[in-house]
Amino acid sequence: MEQKAHILVVEDEQKIRSGLRDFLEFHDFRVSEAVDGLEAQRIVAEKRFDLILLDLMLPKISGEQLCTRWRREGMQTPVIMLTAKGQEKEKVSGLNMGADDYIAKPFSLEELLARIKAVLRRMDPGRAVGQAFKFSDFEVDVAALKVTRGGKEMEISKREAAIIRYFAANPNRVISREELYKAVWNEDMSELGTRTTDMHIAKLRGKIEKNSAEPQIIKTVRGAGYKYEN
Ligand code: CA
Repeated sequence: MEQKAHILVVEDEQKIRSGLRDFLEFHDFRVSEAVDGLEAQRIVAEKRFDLILLDLMLPKISGEQLCTRWRREGMQTPVIMLTAKGQEKEKVSGLNMGADDYIAKPFSLEELLARIKAVLRRMDPGRAVGQAFKFSDFEVDVAALKVTRGGKEMEISKREAAIIRYFAANPNRVISREELYKAVWNEDMSELGTRTTDMHIAKLRGKIEKNSAEPQIIKTVRGAGYKYEN
């Protein structure tokens, strides 16, 4: 059973804060709240969160100051900044100060949810499928680095496990090499990254496809990337 992702909502407006709590809890997140920058700082020093929703304009310590400080201290928890309308300028500096994304108020909760999920997926690409799952006609055990088909066991590398996990968590969607590289290697795409990705896919296909010249599990989408159909 996967643990619920724990989100810290840092927002001084009580209405918005409790609205966010209700919405996020309804969508199966665990939620903690902080009402100002000082409280946020204290809570973050004590507890680990999966994601922080951080209002930009906060009493005591601003969201900008907080985020800058956290990043300087090496905190890697993803941060989505909540900015007020007309603070587009802050968007840029928000991302410069180490926020992973930003959303301008008033925002739709559905959009916020999509952003939260996207950020969490980037942080833990396989969260949706866990450590043991089915992939095509394979049983995958990420912790043991093994795939099994019809009782036949095969070893896979850590990278291969991460690739499989990412495809399994994102079925029926075209995944660009860039996205895959970012998710598995946690680096931005480069020429070397393109080659690395293709090489790993080729090797993985050699293990799991019946005919790697005509892959049926991880398909190539010409000019766009790869797709796992499920
Ligand atoms: Ca505020």
